[in-house]
Amino acid sequence: MNAPNFSAPSLNILVVDDQNATRVALAAELDRVGHRVLEAGDAEWALQLFARHRPDLVLLDVEMPGHDGYWIAREMRAAEPGGWTPIIFLSRMGQDQDVWRGIEAGGDDYLIKPVSPMVLHAKLRAMLRLAQMRQRLVQLSEELRHANNQLHQLSSVDALTGLMNRRALDARLQQEIEQARRDGLPLTLVLCDVDHFKRYNDSHGHVEGDACLRSIGRLLQETCRRPSDCVGRYGGEEFAMVLPNTPRSGAMTFARALMRTVAHAQLPHHDSPVSPHVTLSGGITTCVPDASTTAEGLLIRADDALYHAKASGRNRFFSYEMQMDTEEHRHGLMR
Ligand SMILES: [Mg+2]
Repeated sequence: MNAPNFSAPSLNILVVDDQNATRVALAAELDRVGHRVLEAGDAEWALQLFARHRPDLVLLDVEMPGHDGYWIAREMRAAEPGGWTPIIFLSRMGQDQDVWRGIEAGGDDYLIKPVSPMVLHAKLRAMLRLAQMRQRLVQLSEELRHANNQLHQLSSVDALTGLMNRRALDARLQQEIEQARRDGLPLTLVLCDVDHFKRYNDSHGHVEGDACLRSIGRLLQETCRRPSDCVGRYGGEEFAMVLPNTPRSGAMTFARALMRTVAHAQLPHHDSPVSPHVTLSGGITTCVPDASTTAEGLLIRADDALYHAKASGRNRFFSYEMQMDTEEHRHGLMR
């Protein structure tokens, strides 16, 4: 009987059989319907072709001298961790236990020789369908992974500056409070914002305003040199920094270094009553956390201190615990 001419997609098929006549006949039949065929007569050559050409499907003779088909199938499976190339065994043996052994060895189906062309093509179509479904699943899970990554990024990164957003920063602050409490070390929280930023936007425009926030974000990031320090955009023109293992005096020194860095950048501000350049005001709170310390409490103290810095003339950082700002700190050190 002549096999019907299936219009199936063309596949790369590896045919492994030690008997030339069988192999050539199978190859001819597959070739007749448009598949590309690779032939191997022994285990070593079969594995080489498998590794080199990554066929879409393998037809694998069970009974071969030396390594048999079961062994080859196991080697092929081991050579493609995470992948899956359909393997169909060909055998003259048709006992239940032979079929079982074939599937156990990593095969996907079992054909009894001599193989009828019609059954062969039907099996190929079924395997192809499975392979396509699997491919689609792999693709979908990859898309899902990508979407999850994006979602995570969106939920923790500020889109304008690339710094942590408020949500991520709150979580980090909470973590650092717990860590500092366990270690008995001082923790510093700094809140700061750009002085007269509304005037900046009004005189420079919003596009420049966004660029200004990005520049400030970069300068803050540069100043937070230790790997454990973190900086985030807290909202609008407000930024926050969490500085583990930083005592009050160290926080003041940090704030003064930050102000120097920002001053050095000389970002123009055409409409600031404080300076011709962009300046920051900041509030600092430092404590060795105990059982009563909360993130909310620290934020309120830092915000109070920030308010104080604004009220004292801006372009300074005020420490809640020291009741002193960076100007007074500097003069104190110079005395
Ligand atoms: Mg054989």
